[in-house]
Amino acid sequence: MQIQVEDYYPKETFNRMKAFADEHETPFVVIDTKMIEDAYDDLVEGFPFAKIYYAVKANPAVEIIDLLRDRGSNFDIASIYELDRVLSRGVSPDRISYGNTIKKAKDIRYFYDKGVRLFATDSEADLRNIAKTAPGSRVYVRILTEGSATADWPLSRKFGCQTDMAMDILILARQLGLVPYGVSFHVGSQQRDIGVWDAAIGKVKVIFERLKEEDGIELKLINLGGGFPANYITRTNELEVYAQEITRFLQEDFGDSLPEIILEPGRSLVSNSGVLVSEVVLVSRKSRTAVERWVYTDVGKFSGLIETMDESIKYPIWTEKRGELEEVVIAGPTCDSADIMYEHSKYELPLNLATGDRLYWMSTGAYTTSYSSIEFNGFPPLKAYYL
Ligand SMILES: *Cc1c(COP(=O)(O)O)cnc(C)c1O
Repeated sequence: MQIQVEDYYPKETFNRMKAFADEHETPFVVIDTKMIEDAYDDLVEGFPFAKIYYAVKANPAVEIIDLLRDRGSNFDIASIYELDRVLSRGVSPDRISYGNTIKKAKDIRYFYDKGVRLFATDSEADLRNIAKTAPGSRVYVRILTEGSATADWPLSRKFGCQTDMAMDILILARQLGLVPYGVSFHVGSQQRDIGVWDAAIGKVKVIFERLKEEDGIELKLINLGGGFPANYITRTNELEVYAQEITRFLQEDFGDSLPEIILEPGRSLVSNSGVLVSEVVLVSRKSRTAVERWVYTDVGKFSGLIETMDESIKYPIWTEKRGELEEVVIAGPTCDSADIMYEHSKYELPLNLATGDRLYWMSTGAYTTSYSSIEFNGFPPLKAYYL
């Protein structure tokens, strides 16, 4: 089935991006920053009580950092390099959290020296490093959550700990002179089941109550993580529905006097704003009678499309060519056989598709440029233009 551009972009927006694309050589991603502003405003409208910490890894372009800085966003940072970049754009350190639970002691010190006082953790060893190198800071503990089966890009398991350990860590934090501040989780990126936030918030409530009753610790913060949806082929609910439901879950567990709430959106803020434009290098068949065509493009897993790994993220692909559609395998240009984007997902493209035709990959503003390799096979990193 041909995808409809209007399902993904306002008509004028796409026309503007397309006109720009027509003047530039592929491959590249073109980003409409107005769509990011709108996505930010929608999120604020949906969660008026929450503070937003943009997960910089989704797209660390200074154009995006500047725009979000001016709109009042905060920033969730995972490395000293992201920190340097965000600080260099004039963001003050009190708008930054160090959200990576895996970090060197000397990097924690670096954040502390720059003025950051809010740290994520999920282990005793990391907590002790924080206590030593960032004394007196606020810490929140990341817990494990369910939901990996319904997230297109799961993020629990590697990060987070069980609730019992989370409580141990928060109690130890106080002993070590830190401020046990709250609890965080991430239900998995592109999370299609809103119900998993309910279960996660329920776990948080237990931790809040038990620490208060048993240890006199009053936590102040819930960090609801990311996981909010972008528009790909597999449809999701609208953000509005996420906001309504998650707000209801919070009120059911915490009543009207909510603790401080943080959101850490990456994908949902920037993904929809991008179109990755690529060119068909070759169309071939593997035998005289093969039904399936292989379509090789000048962009692949190593130049921005790594989230097609296991065909997890299914980007809508559009072409101007019109004609009878038939199934294809879509692969990248490098000499690595892992560089196949879609083989089992049954993408269909017109039979008259030929070398030199362009493919437009919708909703590619997140996790593309930042994942692009620097020179595999000598191919340069994915270019990006910000309109
Ligand atoms: C990647 C990440 C996010 C962003 O998640 P999305 O699903 O892209 O919104 C938020 N918080 C943390 C800690 C992350 O690692």
